[in-house]
Amino acid sequence: MKILLVEDSYIERRKLGAYLTDWGFEYQSVGSGTEAIKLLEAPNPPDLALLDWLLPGLDGIDVLRRIRKLAQGHYVYTVMLTAKTHKKDRNTAMDAGADDYLSKPIDPTELRSRIMVAKRILDLQQSLRFAATHDFLTNLLNRSEILAAFEREFARGRREQKPAAVILADIDHFKRVNDTLGHAAGDEVLKEVARRLKVDLRPYDIVGRYGGEEFLIILPGCNLENGVRRADAIRDRVGKDPIETPFGHASATLSMGVTATTAGRDCPVSEFLRQADVSMYEAKKNGRNRVEVFTASANSSAAGQS
Ligand code: GH3
Ligand code: MG
Ligand code: MG
Ligand code: MG
Repeated sequence: MKILLVEDSYIERRKLGAYLTDWGFEYQSVGSGTEAIKLLEAPNPPDLALLDWLLPGLDGIDVLRRIRKLAQGHYVYTVMLTAKTHKKDRNTAMDAGADDYLSKPIDPTELRSRIMVAKRILDLQQSLRFAATHDFLTNLLNRSEILAAFEREFARGRREQKPAAVILADIDHFKRVNDTLGHAAGDEVLKEVARRLKVDLRPYDIVGRYGGEEFLIILPGCNLENGVRRADAIRDRVGKDPIETPFGHASATLSMGVTATTAGRDCPVSEFLRQADVSMYEAKKNGRNRVEVFTASANSSAAGQS
């Protein structure tokens, strides 16, 4: 849990900061609302803000309102710290979006227990968020989240004039695993394939479970040529060794279709998904356990089949 302490009094800031350190929390501290907003709007914002009310420039209430307007899926828990003691003031803070309120002078034991409440709520919120965005079997991003991530990446690539490789991977003859070893073995194979898929990925690459035994991989900044190379390395890694399950060995190879978004090609992400799908089916048709690249001719032969 990252804590942000916003307090203009140097002495108070040092004192509260010393408590936080004693209790084992990591924190950043700033002396103005403007600096606070900068940190809150940057990547990796704090999770908990301890906010003084009276500050030069933007005050605590202004900061609260800005925090609640931001709301990009990251909840910032806020505790107002102030010498104002009227019920009316407390209501003003709560209306502006404060989760909690502590009167100055701050009683350290009370502050600590309020922080523990915040931590409980933030931990719960984080686990709910994880469950809502990830596939529960493989722990990869779920379908709606990988698609949302692709949309975001696509928009960014367009702004920055950078390509992204799009890889659709489907496990070959997966039904046979279920039919011969059982559904539970199939689940184990899916988990292991997901784990192997991630080994070659970089922190900013994105992978999700797109369907039952289908995975979508987005490689930001990667052009078609490199995308094909990376896809082949992933294919090799996943299929090389058999997968041990409590029900017996299985092997899982992947058929993959690769395409790439390029700057200047103005089409929706659904078009790139379609292209990757066309090529994935080419890979099936051409013998499985292989990578095919989307080309205009693959497109027209797919159109001819339908
Ligand atoms: P192909 O090489 O043509 O892709 O053959 P396939 O057998 O992989 O393809 P098909 O679409 O016929 O079968 C996919 C199978 O994946 C059928 C379905 O039961 C299985 N499947 C999908 N989701 C899960 C899951 O969560 N667990 C298990 N065990 N099986 C799943
Ligand atoms: Mg102050
Ligand atoms: Mg499939
Ligand atoms: Mg399959």
